[in-house]
Amino acid sequence: MTDYAVGKDVLSYCNACKLTLSHTVVAMRDTKTIAKVQCNTCQALHAFRSKSQARTTAKKTRSKAHIVPVDQLWKDAMSTTNKKSVAYSIRTKFNVGDIIDHSKFGPGIVQAFSDNDKIEVLFNSDIRVLVHNK
Ligand SMILES: [Zn+2]
Repeated sequence: MTDYAVGKDVLSYCNACKLTLSHTVVAMRDTKTIAKVQCNTCQALHAFRSKSQARTTAKKTRSKAHIVPVDQLWKDAMSTTNKKSVAYSIRTKFNVGDIIDHSKFGPGIVQAFSDNDKIEVLFNSDIRVLVHNK
């Protein structure tokens, strides 16, 4: 294994770039331990972080920022169904997974039942509760 030394390049996680990138060693704690590195991409100086530490941090960040926008949910749902759309009417009885063609909101997918006569429908712009089965 090669010894690290000041001025040598090393892979470290960069907090500013949010990536594991090539860094230059600027300070050593001892002959085997890097204390400080400088990012070759953004020039930021920070403590050395091994790849394993970086992975844990990245996972935590990702789960916290896990918010899928409605239009993305809608696109995914529409791309995984091959059902024919049915024109929306409050007299029609809909089931979960049905595709509704709404005159105002456009095509939507029934997500769940809400009360006895209401359905939750995922539209491109929003999730709406509609009355059905009247
Ligand atoms: Zn950087």
